[in-house]
Amino acid sequence: MAIRDAGQANGPGWRLRIVPNKFPALARNAQPASPENGARRAGAGAHEVVIETAEHDVTWSRLPIPRLAQVLEAVRSRMAALAREPGIEYVFFFKNHGEAAGATLSHPHSQLLALPMVPALVASELEGAERYYARAGRCYFCELAEREVARGERSVLEVGSMVVFAPHAARAPFEVWILPKRHQARLADAAEAEIEALAGAIRTTLGRLDQALGETAYNLFLHETPARSGPLAHYHWHFELIPRVTRLAGFEWGTRMFINPIAPEEAARRLRESGAD
Ligand SMILES: [Zn+2]
Ligand SMILES: [Zn+2]
Repeated sequence: MAIRDAGQANGPGWRLRIVPNKFPALARNAQPASPENGARRAGAGAHEVVIETAEHDVTWSRLPIPRLAQVLEAVRSRMAALAREPGIEYVFFFKNHGEAAGATLSHPHSQLLALPMVPALVASELEGAERYYARAGRCYFCELAEREVARGERSVLEVGSMVVFAPHAARAPFEVWILPKRHQARLADAAEAEIEALAGAIRTTLGRLDQALGETAYNLFLHETPARSGPLAHYHWHFELIPRVTRLAGFEWGTRMFINPIAPEEAARRLRESGAD
């Protein structure tokens, strides 16, 4: 996929391209290496790289908002195409920025992995959200957005219908979540103006992180309703942004618990204050 101002396919003049990864983690023709079970299966799927801009050294915190909105539009249309492929259960979009976050290329890029399974973290969020819906009759994420804005102590900013806040059980210093107030199961359900607002929210948040911490490595990823589900009333897309200022070590690997030395209320306050000038 390419977005270009002028010129012909596979020629110069492109603004954004999405191409197969040269070193893919998953391949469409993968064969099972051993009998499948819960923990091991064929790496069947697709792995694509989003080359977000032709400029080599522009970060998302400096990319103009309309350009970032264009990246997000391209990503969601590519996600929809991958979700229609046979055998694909989940399309995962993520960005690793900086060496400490696992980025191996310096050119601005993000990645799409079309997976033959729903990731365990998403599956556990889905289960929790379903239980909450059964008990409270409401989408947990709709309520979360409302509650964090109303309480204010963990909220960072709002752009149009998008809210940014530090989650109450943040795994890392300055972890933030970005989500729409309006219930939407997938990024594909967002209106064009909401994609613009999302781009603004991400851009401003990254700018404030730069101000608060200096330019920092981060992982940014999207959670949304799995490819084969209908529009769920209890699950709601959201971005999770994790600055990589601490390292995962024995405790985290061995327990899946996280030690976070900065309370989310403190991180949110500092991010609010970075926007004051
Ligand atoms: Zn919702
Ligand atoms: Zn999530």
